[in-house]
Amino acid sequence: MIYLDYNATAPLSESVQEYVKNQMVNDWANPSSEHDAGYILNQKIKKDRAVIAEFLGVSTKGLFFTSGATESINTVLSVDTLKKNGIDTIISSRLEHHATLHRLKYLEKQGFKIEYVGNSNQGIIDFSELENKLASNKGKALASFLYVNNETGTITDVKKVVELCHENDCLVHLDAVQALGKLQFDLDDIDPDFASFSGHKIGALKGIGLLYCSDVKKVSPYIYGGGQESGIRPGTSNYPAIHSFRLAIDDVDWDKNVELEKLRDEFEKEYLALNSDFRINASDSPRVGNTSNIYLGGREAREVLLKLSREKIYVSTGSACSSGSIEPSHVIQELGFEKEVAKSSLRLSFGSHLICKSLIEQLSNTLA
Ligand code: PLP
Repeated sequence: MIYLDYNATAPLSESVQEYVKNQMVNDWANPSSEHDAGYILNQKIKKDRAVIAEFLGVSTKGLFFTSGATESINTVLSVDTLKKNGIDTIISSRLEHHATLHRLKYLEKQGFKIEYVGNSNQGIIDFSELENKLASNKGKALASFLYVNNETGTITDVKKVVELCHENDCLVHLDAVQALGKLQFDLDDIDPDFASFSGHKIGALKGIGLLYCSDVKKVSPYIYGGGQESGIRPGTSNYPAIHSFRLAIDDVDWDKNVELEKLRDEFEKEYLALNSDFRINASDSPRVGNTSNIYLGGREAREVLLKLSREKIYVSTGSACSSGSIEPSHVIQELGFEKEVAKSSLRLSFGSHLICKSLIEQLSNTLA
């Protein structure tokens, strides 16, 4: 199998596999229990949170475990959190993940004003439009942007976004799911008010995510219950999933990422040489090294995907939540391309299993 869909989900990292096979069965206690079995896990959660906080460059006080990035995003964009901060306007882009876009549609129905900032055909947001929108909504807007686009790999200059937001007394949330483990960053230095992360994109178990808040007073819980996660995210702590997140963080390998980027670039060069109609979407933007969004020169992407799938090469036509639906990628269309281009684009997101030569061979056979 050649798995090229890491942006949808990653296979369990080596340490997580080891943990699942040998250790996880012992970690069944409720970490909130007062007896030793619970207390020990509670202490282990503290350690895991500290390791993740150090990796992100923030204090443990602002990190809350959730069920995934969808929940973290929905908590930041909840009516209660927005009202708590006097927010009546959300500024975002149409390139966002559906976890944000669909939430924004809901908020619009609840009476919030939603302002979308335009973007270039490389997926770079229009900073002067952002600045104008922030200036006309001083003190009452929250901006929410992807750090790294899940379909094209485009990196947003989030430090600039945060600076503009704060200059205008506005709050800012970053969907940093696809940046984690792919880009080296210091969250404290970027300084967003909120950020969302997901464990399974880097090899942790599914069902574990993180919400970062620079100040816990800025967030309201989305659900109510016990006092877990300081009451911000109640519910019995999922220790095995939390620990898997920490182990996946331990397994992040920056040298491997550099290698991956070289292989991706090599792949793209060879791919473009196959046919003069082929293109790489958003390839002139700053991108993370594992993602390649290829235009197939008019060939139906779904047909190519299914053909590759029969040959055990797994790619995607967009984000996993929308693949399977007949709608072509909203991101490619928002780059300004016709629907036909979106229908003829595939996302390849590489991980450690990239086998460049055989992939090129298989792709050229499939497309021939
Ligand atoms: N944001 C981005 C950019 C994503 O790629 C994903 C996953 O597809 C999500 C949010 C949602 O993450 P989760 O699966 O943890 O809910």
